[in-house]
Amino acid sequence: MKIGHEALVIGNWKMNPQTDAMAKRLATDIKKTLAHAEGVEVVVAPPAIYIPIVESVRNSKKSFLVGAQNVHTETIGAFTGEISIPMLKSFDVRYVIVGHSERRKAGETDVDVNAKMTAIIKSGLTAVVCVGEAKRDHGAQYLGLIEMQIRDAVKGLSRAKLGNLVIAYEPVWAIGTGNTATPEDVHEMKLFIEKTLTDLYGRNYAQKVRILYGGSVNPKNAGEIMHDGKVDGFLVGGASLSAKDFGSIVTAVKSMLV
Ligand code: PEP
Repeated sequence: MKIGHEALVIGNWKMNPQTDAMAKRLATDIKKTLAHAEGVEVVVAPPAIYIPIVESVRNSKKSFLVGAQNVHTETIGAFTGEISIPMLKSFDVRYVIVGHSERRKAGETDVDVNAKMTAIIKSGLTAVVCVGEAKRDHGAQYLGLIEMQIRDAVKGLSRAKLGNLVIAYEPVWAIGTGNTATPEDVHEMKLFIEKTLTDLYGRNYAQKVRILYGGSVNPKNAGEIMHDGKVDGFLVGGASLSAKDFGSIVTAVKSMLV
């Protein structure tokens, strides 16, 4: 299959693993599996405290890039417990996830998502904005929710910056549950997201945004979802904690590219 961009696979480690030694080992093992991953951009997003370790393992343009799972909108000051964009940049972080359903559940609003996306992209980093419905209804009202999440997230973002935006469609019911959206559902949603962006920016600009799927992606289902869902890649949670599984997902993605 031909996609308009370089494929992208992001591993979201969430609050794992338990020690710095384990994080170093996992990053090292992931790096080994990526020896032949040309054509696929791979990002590892560890907990912030492990970013320096993972970045030191990366230590080469040819392996993976480092991502963050969250960031604060302010660059410096009295914000206890927070991490700023300049701090992330000083460790060469390139991608930042925003609006993950686990963070939305903890109180992150569409307004917060928009503010974070704006700060991230303004700084030259890439924002990975997660959208997704908690459940599907027969009247397809979830489509309205996705449209609203996207419109709210990108408010104020200019066309020229769309290359720094990634949208990850992550139905909440599929995250960490073993239930994946069907490849047909993923494709339908990809078209819907493209339409929403096209309405806002026009077709040519909308196509600059990479669209990922996330939700119980594993080595067995990745190829089919990529091929029939026609997405640009994946946001992977659980399976990114196994270098073997994560590497197999990257390989599956690579094998779908012409
Ligand atoms: C995620 O956390 O973004 C995710 C997709 O998790 P999982 O792959 O475990 O469903």
